[in-house]
Amino acid sequence: MYNKATINQIADVVRKILDYREPPYDPVDAVNKLNGIIDNEVADVAIDALIERCKTNEKAFIIHLNKEKPFSRTRFSIAHELGHLFLHMGYRTPRWENTEECFKDSVYYRYAYTAEESEANEFAAAFLMPMEEFKKDVYANTNDEIVNFQKVAEKFEVSTENALNRARFSGITG
Ligand SMILES: [Zn+2]
Repeated sequence: MYNKATINQIADVVRKILDYREPPYDPVDAVNKLNGIIDNEVADVAIDALIERCKTNEKAFIIHLNKEKPFSRTRFSIAHELGHLFLHMGYRTPRWENTEECFKDSVYYRYAYTAEESEANEFAAAFLMPMEEFKKDVYANTNDEIVNFQKVAEKFEVSTENALNRARFSGITG
């Protein structure tokens, strides 16, 4: 289990390693740089994305993506899978090296809500919308105490819902 602050710190470190400096942050590029691959086949159309480690080729992991979903949602889904990679699969830690364990995204179990799912969502939000930059942008797009979340979402290339949730879950708005 991770607390939110830790997850945000891990996302900051990942962006730093990848030398990402300003939004929008590109999770597809991140997958490439981290030696992963994305394919566009998901067995279940209800699922946005899944991740598993690769055992058969030189790539480290594979993210299966449902391409039918909107672009902003796809970006969040890939970032969510990167959250599983770093938080739950131990990528680039001894755990990754020492085990053959295969992580299965719990979304597989028909949207069973688990701590891992909310942690991966927090990572995705933190990766795509770093808190300091996000706060600044929210304030810059506030007029008469009304936040234009559509504007904020455009800057970070996320859905308006993602931006709203980021603000709510981090206590910026009520
Ligand atoms: Zn998941």
